[in-house]
Amino acid sequence: MESPWQVAGSTRVAAVIGHPIHHSISPVIHNAAFRSLDLDWVFAAFEVAPGRGAAAVEGARDLGLAGLSVTMPHKADVVRALDRLSPTAETLGAVNTIVRNGTHELVGDNTDGAGFLDALREDEGFDPDRRSCLVVGAGGAARAVVVALAGAGAAEVIVVNRTAERAEEAVALALSVARTGSIEEADGVDLIVNATPQGMAGDRTLPVPAAALSAGQLVVDLVYHPAHTPLVEAARERGAAAANGLGMLIHQAAHAFRLWTGEDPPLEVMSAAALADLALRD
Ligand code: NAP
Repeated sequence: MESPWQVAGSTRVAAVIGHPIHHSISPVIHNAAFRSLDLDWVFAAFEVAPGRGAAAVEGARDLGLAGLSVTMPHKADVVRALDRLSPTAETLGAVNTIVRNGTHELVGDNTDGAGFLDALREDEGFDPDRRSCLVVGAGGAARAVVVALAGAGAAEVIVVNRTAERAEEAVALALSVARTGSIEEADGVDLIVNATPQGMAGDRTLPVPAAALSAGQLVVDLVYHPAHTPLVEAARERGAAAANGLGMLIHQAAHAFRLWTGEDPPLEVMSAAALADLALRD
């Protein structure tokens, strides 16, 4: 039986910083994981104004927080407050997880790409090795996905973005396999990823024309609320396999959990907690 949960003087504190943060699902996911393993940890969410990310990390350092998640708009800003970056965070110039190494050193990592790959392989049974991929978007999430797909052996990664200059910047992170292209090229690739906010609550815009979707493809929408985004629905109607972004969200959190606690993350508990919370938001 689960022991009574109590925050005490010994409790280790982890948190997410972002703006806006009140809709963050990270506290639900991590607190469920801490409780299920009976760890003396608690996870909070802090609203941090744009431009104050690095200052917040200095505060976290002084407060002795045991781990930090970082979300919009602070992922690049916090870099200057850290002692060291993982190779992935260095490549992306963006941090989503901060780990306290020993007593004082704060290390920035980025688990978005690893979380995305885990979701592809473990949840969808899709190995990107030697497969053709198209990513819509060129922001932080898209870049993590492009670098991850290149690292996983994708044959090509076509990047399509509203602002052409940003697509070029994303391509530059994985020049061996990535190139810019047009949305029509989605027709025929093995994997399509939406890394734009199109399709979030109430937005019925399709980031990829339905006519480009077909059986044999996997379509991943990084949006996870609503669960059945217009793109996921269109993909299934056209016979393609489809998933929303919840898998990536859970797996990136699982990587962070392991980095902070050294424990195996209870994936099923984390996923169930997220689904229960999202159901309340519908
Ligand atoms: P970001 O850095 O702000 O990038 C947003 C991207 O979307 C940019 O490429 C932007 O194009 C494009 N975009 C925005 N509005 C658009 C529109 N109306 N039409 C066409 N393109 C548009 O954001 P991000 O952090 O990469 O996040 C992107 C999406 O992924 C969000 O929906 C976010 O919730 C989701 N996400 C999910 C996870 C997960 O774990 N599932 C993790 C991270 C992000 P421009 O360059 O032209 O502005």
